[in-house]
Amino acid sequence: MIPFNVPPFLGTEPDYIMQAVKAQKICGDGQFTKLCNKWLEDKTGTAKALLTTSCTHSLEMAALLLDIQPGDEVIMPSFTFVSTADAFVLRGAKIVFVDIRPDTMNIDEKLIEDAITDKTKAIVPVHYAGVACEMDTITEIAKRHNLAVVEDAAQAVMSEYKGRALGTIGDYGCYSFHETKNYSMGEGGALLIKDPKMADEAEIIREKGTDRSRFLRGQIDKYTWVNFGSSYLPSDMNAAYLWAQLQKADMINDNRLASWQRYYDAFEELERDGFVERPIIPEDCKHNAHMFYLKTKDIEERTRLISYLKENGVMAVFHYIPLHSAPAGKKFGRFHGEDKYTTRESERLVRLPMYYGLTDEDITKAIDAVIAFYKG
Ligand SMILES: *Cc1c(COP(=O)(O)O)cnc(C)c1O
Repeated sequence: MIPFNVPPFLGTEPDYIMQAVKAQKICGDGQFTKLCNKWLEDKTGTAKALLTTSCTHSLEMAALLLDIQPGDEVIMPSFTFVSTADAFVLRGAKIVFVDIRPDTMNIDEKLIEDAITDKTKAIVPVHYAGVACEMDTITEIAKRHNLAVVEDAAQAVMSEYKGRALGTIGDYGCYSFHETKNYSMGEGGALLIKDPKMADEAEIIREKGTDRSRFLRGQIDKYTWVNFGSSYLPSDMNAAYLWAQLQKADMINDNRLASWQRYYDAFEELERDGFVERPIIPEDCKHNAHMFYLKTKDIEERTRLISYLKENGVMAVFHYIPLHSAPAGKKFGRFHGEDKYTTRESERLVRLPMYYGLTDEDITKAIDAVIAFYKG
């Protein structure tokens, strides 16, 4: 069976983990965490990057830094992972879902302005599949209405929009290093902070509300409780695992893009014959091959395709059940406007195996199985 995902592993991870162990510094903000933070800052150009325990926690930190209060409204797509909403729901915010664009499956930037009320505090674009949302329009709307922009860039490490790294365009950017993402530390993430003035406050929230980060840098001789906070910093052992992959980020990215391109080229004919649709990457976007998906005719055909692939040794999966139709989504949010594409397009989407090191033989097998399903 060709798995749907294999967590990235290069072989150097155990060495780095042992280095952290031998340094007797396995808690947060050790040598590997610092290396990863620095790498993220250099690579993306963000003012400040902080490794966190998950993208979910990065989103929670952004909600805290923005001082989201009960009754505030936050605009986002319904076609996303639960964490995008959860982080703001925990602060008592109401989630306002707007429809997606059928081409990229990203929030439809043209529908955002109509969903804004005097309670709106933030817009949370999600860069689905590592393909950028229309950020120029979104930042322009945010500026005009004095709203914050938090990028859910969980899937978008190494992706770009008009030459800028995703996660650095809004006020905050949230990355995921979960084992299902392009670069991993098991569970983990990062918060990218645009305004350097917010960096100290972010460090305090991440360190249980204390100024321990300043203390560790020798800027003060005692650390104390200065604000609210939580524990959002990962163990240096996890950072060591991630460091191995960040060092080889280009190699991993090239490998994934090559797999993605093979799928893309192989399904050209199926698309021409009207059986499936392939992903669309807008001109301004450089994607990272986070996933390869196809769109089937409808949900019934998708169900049959997924079982056919399984019978033929290929694990394919779908996601997401749109948040506004889930019990918690009904409780904590509302859909603004018409659900023209969110439900319909999400029901057609099927993801094929995609991971670093996916072999040529396995890609061929997956491609052949899909073609056989349609053409017999
Ligand atoms: C994976 C993912 C998350 C959550 O990431 P964690 O690191 O597991 O918390 C959030 N949003 C999106 C869009 C994701 O794909």
